Amino acid sequence: MKLDVYDSKILEILQKDARTSMKEIAEKSSLTSPTVSARVKALEDMGVIRGYNADIIPGTLGQGVMFLIVRSKPSDVDTVAETLTTFPLVREVNITGGGKIIATAVFRSISDQESIMNDVGNIPLVQEYDHYMLVETRKKEPLALIAEGAQVSIPCYYCRKPIEGTPYKIRLGGREHFLCCPICEREYKKKYASLVEGAKQ
Ligand SMILES: [Zn+2]
Repeated sequence: MKLDVYDSKILEILQKDARTSMKEIAEKSSLTSPTVSARVKALEDMGVIRGYNADIIPGTLGQGVMFLIVRSKPSDVDTVAETLTTFPLVREVNITGGGKIIATAVFRSISDQESIMNDVGNIPLVQEYDHYMLVETRKKEPLALIAEGAQVSIPCYYCRKPIEGTPYKIRLGGREHFLCCPICEREYKKKYASLVEGAKQ
């Protein structure tokens, strides 16, 4: 599926301010409110819109942020990344080209810091990792550049193939996960449960 001019307008408005009312979006995009609601629902169902969150800066709550660069054998990157996603203090996990993982973690105290480092260091497949404390954020904009004609492609969390049609959504560890079919859904649930189990040991 490709974004048409209306979808891209809706996304642009919502990415800027997720609290914009359906009525206001309708006025700005020359659609009716019910049409806007239906399109927003479709974009949510497809996984293009993953959620609506207040942007709370951890520092305002006395919390610190650290970045982790984690290395493992290329064949282990997927398992290591999935294991990192199961740690509550780890908030973002990215796999980069070259097989490195860049993760972001938040901490409230020295003991949180220690537990993050212990958890990461104790993943058996991790070869080495570095950590860097955040000093100051100078820019943080929503990532997506919204444009008409953009190809929508949501990879299945389990098989990584692009999902055709409406994804199967499951909520694990407080996050939505998108799967292409009931088989991937079942297998991913199993994989996630065993990673959570393994990470506890
Ligand atoms: Zn799949």
